[in-house]
Amino acid sequence: MNIINGKQIQEQKLKFISKNISKIKDTLKLVVIQVGDNEASNVYIKNKQKICEKVGILFEHIKYDKINEAKLIERIEELNTDKSVTGILVQLPLPKDINEKRVIDAIHPLKDVDGLTTVNLGNLFSGNKGLVPCTALGVLEILKSINAPIEGSNVVIVGRSRLVGLPLSGLLLRENATVTICHSKTKDLKEKTKQADILIVAIGKKQLIKESYIKENAIVIDVGINREEGKLYGDCDFENIKDKCNAITPVPNGVGPLTVTMLINNIIEAYNLQKNN
Ligand code: NDP
Repeated sequence: MNIINGKQIQEQKLKFISKNISKIKDTLKLVVIQVGDNEASNVYIKNKQKICEKVGILFEHIKYDKINEAKLIERIEELNTDKSVTGILVQLPLPKDINEKRVIDAIHPLKDVDGLTTVNLGNLFSGNKGLVPCTALGVLEILKSINAPIEGSNVVIVGRSRLVGLPLSGLLLRENATVTICHSKTKDLKEKTKQADILIVAIGKKQLIKESYIKENAIVIDVGINREEGKLYGDCDFENIKDKCNAITPVPNGVGPLTVTMLINNIIEAYNLQKNN
């Protein structure tokens, strides 16, 4: 059994990314827009700021206590045409009275460093160049860094969100995996996950995946982050699963560090796509 060290993979990837940034003459800039004061969002934004500063990317945080949807979209449209801005990210969740999909789709696809616009999701499944959600890229990065045999493998993804499960299915299909996507309406979940050579879980349910859900020697990637009394838990019952796996990510320090790293990757990618457009 191998416990995957997300921090270590992050360091390697950051070295590579820093080299790429040093070759770019222009200044890169990320703008993060936040509405409200969600506690988890505050933490995620701080982490994004830290990593941008570490690699020399300008960071601007626009925070509104309250704003209506039309005004928010207007602000995004201004940033779309602002040549000093490389990437725009709207921190989710937004307040309930704002339609997230409309707001996200207002971001120019070439500045959509979260890869969440309809255009970029379509690009992924059409095989076009585009920006892909950071967590999905982070999971692929982990699998590649441990030399997981993706091609031809049975990959089961539990969760089908636009943020994680859905884009991951597209990325892994591109890598020639045989992909099964499960969700809350899937019958006999355990029967599906037991077929997985590579099991990826992104549901947000503390330790739902037990030892009996795992095939012997599977690779398990646990994307879930569940907070309980100040502690973080994954979607997998790590302690009881780990000895059955070939490799497994812990929570924390598994997928999380890669998610924020792939944001930097996407800012560079956005810059390159804008240059060539
Ligand atoms: P969503 O709530 O958007 O999606 C959850 C998905 O899980 C849905 O597709 C849902 O099915 C499915 N699901 C929920 N319950 C079950 C169940 N009992 N059995 C099978 N499927 C189920 O969550 P996200 O994709 O945004 O995030 C998932 C988890 O990953 C969260 O814990 C989140 O905090 C974490 N996360 C971690 C990141 C990291 O960097 N480590 C980054 C992003 C997210 P249905 O579609 O039918 O509703």
